[in-house]
Amino acid sequence: MTGEHTYTVNQAKLSVIRGDITLQSTDAIVNAANSGLMGGGGVDGAIHRAGGPAILEECKQIVVRQGHLPTGQAVITTAGKMKAKYVIHTVGPIWGGGNMGEAGLLTNAYQNSLELAASRGLSSVSFPSVSTGAYSYPVDSAARVALRTVVNFLRQETSVKEVIFVLFDSRTYETYADTLWDVRGEKG
Ligand code: ADP
Repeated sequence: MTGEHTYTVNQAKLSVIRGDITLQSTDAIVNAANSGLMGGGGVDGAIHRAGGPAILEECKQIVVRQGHLPTGQAVITTAGKMKAKYVIHTVGPIWGGGNMGEAGLLTNAYQNSLELAASRGLSSVSFPSVSTGAYSYPVDSAARVALRTVVNFLRQETSVKEVIFVLFDSRTYETYADTLWDVRGEKG
């Protein structure tokens, strides 16, 4: 980890760090999944590899019960062998140029993940940069949506005490760190 940037909102701590989300010990880590919930590349593959087969089994049961997970929605499983207790699987939008409702869908992905954590009484959550890998969402726009959504949530809901953005590569980390600085200056 090369550094940490922190913003305190309503007594909750919001941080941006560089690292591997599979190593986090927050109550939940969030997975940038796809609708089929069958694993894949990027952070999804890393989470299933680190957690072991129990996570995929639970995902399959969820799909049997409720079908594919629509973009912007979130579901929860245990975290298998990882230090975190739960994985919240959410599906971000595929970038289609910006006029296909991407920002609203990305907002929903973060908001629904946080609401699910709160409804389960979880107090700490780690997020990756949803949609900015294989789904090609531009990192600067995605960081703004992600951080604004989390800040607005923490201003209204006090049961979640810690949110950590765990960014894997230096460019994504620097963009989130710079954007956190901007979002801190915005009025709530
Ligand atoms: P999406 O399909 O939503 O775009 P990806 O997994 O392709 O999801 O990429 C999302 C982000 O997750 C990218 O910034 C990628 O570098 C990052 N990432 C990949 N592996 C990890 C990991 N182990 N921990 C945290 N972030 C990761």
